[in-house]
Amino acid sequence: MKPLARRAGRISTSQTVAIDAKYKRLKAEGKDVLSLGAGEPDLDTPEHAKLAAIESIRAGRTKYSQVTGLPELKDAVSRKFARDNGLSYPPADIIISGGAKHCVFNTLLALVEEGDEVLIPTPCWVTYPELVRFLGGAPILLPTDMASGFKLNAQDLRKAMTPKSKLLILNSPGNPTGAVYDEAELRALADVVVEHDLYCLSDEIYEYIVYGGARHVSIAALGAEIFARTITINGMSKAYAMTGWRIGYTGAPPALAAAIGAIQSHGTHHPANASQYAAIAALAADKSFPDLMRSHLSDCRELALRRLAAIPGLLVFPPAGAFYAFFNLHAYLGASYRGKTMATSMDICEYLLDEHLLATVPGSSFGLEGFMRISFANGLEALDAALDRLEKGFRALLPA
Ligand code: PMP
Ligand code: GLU
Repeated sequence: MKPLARRAGRISTSQTVAIDAKYKRLKAEGKDVLSLGAGEPDLDTPEHAKLAAIESIRAGRTKYSQVTGLPELKDAVSRKFARDNGLSYPPADIIISGGAKHCVFNTLLALVEEGDEVLIPTPCWVTYPELVRFLGGAPILLPTDMASGFKLNAQDLRKAMTPKSKLLILNSPGNPTGAVYDEAELRALADVVVEHDLYCLSDEIYEYIVYGGARHVSIAALGAEIFARTITINGMSKAYAMTGWRIGYTGAPPALAAAIGAIQSHGTHHPANASQYAAIAALAADKSFPDLMRSHLSDCRELALRRLAAIPGLLVFPPAGAFYAFFNLHAYLGASYRGKTMATSMDICEYLLDEHLLATVPGSSFGLEGFMRISFANGLEALDAALDRLEKGFRALLPA
């Protein structure tokens, strides 16, 4: 048989998705497995969103609709960008797609060519470097560390510039660290983006999930020049507990929005109408659901940080946003359990799943070895039970 396309060899299954699949398989086999793995809010989709979807089906809105999204949804997103983010994307420059992940893919398809360099602060969400590599681009990973709050600064970005630099990917609040950039930090990065004529993809999917004094700022709102070169991506998954509905949205400069529309017209046509009607209803309601989500996740965060602090040797980065705790587990690397040495964060995650029936994600999936990510978006009782297993698992690795 003839070989697959070379690009197929450049991509592997998302590790966060693979870990979730393994957790679900074990659960289906009847194992008492718990998950702090894939990031997915535990709350149910708001009732008014579900009802709107059901009504749309009953009303027969079940045929093809507009490629870049239902006009009512694009209007609602345009209003949301103006209200929450100070951004004026007209509906023509908004594309509704099958989740923020699809929005990221569409954007990279429209922008990245062989050899283009895409600057990605790490640790980062698994999907960014994978998709860039898939498209023949070069992911330029810009490491950040706990001491710098896991944030890229303008000097380091400037140092990484080459004639091939094309795009900076920012994700604030960030996955996996929960770091949130403030306005001054974003302004400094925006200056470099404008100076070097880059594009900036701003993934704002965790926008509403910020804690304490942290405030989300959209980089595109910081001036006309940065607005003109920023692609702002967001979606319904996290704030509205709508992961399975697959609705994300992109605000983009006009030429790019048109290119993404053309790509989507051939790639997927448009996301399911019923999901779009659910999104319209969710966005039309007041902010009480995202507020409830934030306050629930804030309780989860407190519990997770308290429990993690009680596990010897873990150095935990307190997240200002998103719903992950990211921690250094160097104290446990080199430990052994029943003759097996824990050489990597992946070894420790496999040990936790095999021996303690608990799914977690290794730092290596996000480009930082020696760390682990847990998602604390869970019911408090379930979270506490999962953290019992985590603590038991780590304590069993301590010298007797
Ligand atoms: N961006 C980041 C940083 C994420 O963590 C996720 C989670 N899956 C997504 C985008 C995609 O979200 P969705 O496709 O469900 O909208
Ligand atoms: N974004 C979530 C995570 O990081 C869901 C899985 C995925 O899409 O990667 O776990």
